[in-house]
Amino acid sequence: MWILYCVCMILDFLFPKRCINCEKFEDFLCNECKSSLKIIGFQRCPNCKRKSFCGKFCYGRFCEKTFFFDQLILCFLYSKNTILQKLVVNFKYKFLKAINVFFVNVLRYQFLKFSENGMLENVVVVPVPMSKQKIRIRGENHAKILAYNFAKKLNLKFCDVLWRENREDQAKLKRNDRLTNLKNSIFVNEKYESFLENKNIILIDDIVTTCSTVNECSRALKMAKTKYICVLALARG
Ligand SMILES: [Zn+2]
Ligand SMILES: [Zn+2]
Repeated sequence: MWILYCVCMILDFLFPKRCINCEKFEDFLCNECKSSLKIIGFQRCPNCKRKSFCGKFCYGRFCEKTFFFDQLILCFLYSKNTILQKLVVNFKYKFLKAINVFFVNVLRYQFLKFSENGMLENVVVVPVPMSKQKIRIRGENHAKILAYNFAKKLNLKFCDVLWRENREDQAKLKRNDRLTNLKNSIFVNEKYESFLENKNIILIDDIVTTCSTVNECSRALKMAKTKYICVLALARG
């Protein structure tokens, strides 16, 4: 055991942790940079973005018309070149474990704050899937890692029930093209169809943009007769 301890000490000495934002030798994110990352205190309607305390659709305005999920809970505000973006990039490509732990803690905090009381019963945590081809390039689906650790932290069931056909990268397309590109591209794995009936779902993604991907996932999940779908993501880009 002490050998391992010594190795860790030497590694820490040789490669001290540096803040990914200001490069101060402290931690993956120094206290000053961490405190500038604001966790959002209220949610918005996923459609029209009016304030809606827990991220549900506006009542009586038909905002939910084209959506298959019931609620969207976000953790941070997102814009380009911010600390959050640097964190996400580091999480995706360098895979820093400490960032994963930090993200999972924030996801847990926001979920417990904004979800309904009944959301911890009969629940399955599901990640937004990545196509096999993309996994081959990236090495791992980071939404799956977040979802797995989030479920573990809250003692909930985790199940990777969705799969995704390989289509053109959503990020490179315009809004309308994204919708057609996505249509019928995400499915529930047949062996889980009966398992999902009547379950409440927490669908996890890192950054959602137009919500078209999480909506396509939700369409597939609702076809498998799931009950309530809460989308939980780090931010909306
Ligand atoms: Zn810093
Ligand atoms: Zn609305």
